[in-house]
Amino acid sequence: MDISRVKETAFISGVIDESSDFSPILLPPWPANIDFSGVQRVNSIGLRTWMLFLTKWGDKPLNYLNCTTSISDQLVMVPALFGIPKKVVKVLSAMISYDCPKCKHAEDLMIKYDNVHPVPSPEALAPKCRICFHEMELVDAGYLSIF
Ligand SMILES: [Zn+2]
Repeated sequence: MDISRVKETAFISGVIDESSDFSPILLPPWPANIDFSGVQRVNSIGLRTWMLFLTKWGDKPLNYLNCTTSISDQLVMVPALFGIPKKVVKVLSAMISYDCPKCKHAEDLMIKYDNVHPVPSPEALAPKCRICFHEMELVDAGYLSIF
């Protein structure tokens, strides 16, 4: 895993695993955002490392941007990834997986916070399949709850 920094955003790339080191973003000036667009996958020890980072991060607000599907999948399953001991994280954009019930086309779409709040838009709930134009379904009904 690599961390780079542009102004208020920390960019994480690679694999979040046992060798991942979040310490560069625990020193001030703290980032306001973590961009996960370069993350390929997260393993179980990486998940623990990420949670340990959040315990040290504390109660400062933090945005997650451009979450890949491997990040979105973890966020659905592990509420602790939103902050420990309290929720401090807001997800601003994440890849969400959809299936078309008619033609079986599967597609991951980038969904933004504003597509879900104050109420989920049709583009987030049931985007049109680009193959057959039927409404697609969320692969996991809980996906939009990460926003
Ligand atoms: Zn379709």
